[in-house]
Amino acid sequence: MWKLLNERLPTDDVLCIMGFYLPSKCGFCNNLESLHHTLLKCEFSKAIWRFFEGLFDVHYAGDSYLQHYLSSWSINSGSTLLGVMHKLIIPPTMCWNLWKSRNKLKYEDIISTRQQVIAHVVADLKPCFPSFPREFS
Ligand SMILES: [Zn+2]
Repeated sequence: MWKLLNERLPTDDVLCIMGFYLPSKCGFCNNLESLHHTLLKCEFSKAIWRFFEGLFDVHYAGDSYLQHYLSSWSINSGSTLLGVMHKLIIPPTMCWNLWKSRNKLKYEDIISTRQQVIAHVVADLKPCFPSFPREFS
């Protein structure tokens, strides 16, 4: 998460800044790849975020800067169990699973569907919250 928040994950744009000149391509949609695009703005990622926003009643009307978006999950979340999930668990779990899907596609040519990524996020959240997502439906 530190690398993500400090924009140090090796996306194509970061590798270019480091001197590696590679063709930049988001594996999900073929646009130029950047951290913000791949984890937030890409239609593939957006659809997954929207699913969990709906599930957890998260509303975000700000800009599309990734760090701002991630912090929006903690706004009005309070100190309840759901609030703790909003702040500490769901956004990193989402980012981790999107990053894993990106890497599987980029390096192993394994395509993940949106439903598979959602299922992985739910599976990762279940050990902390055994009744998830039933209790939120
Ligand atoms: Zn994309």
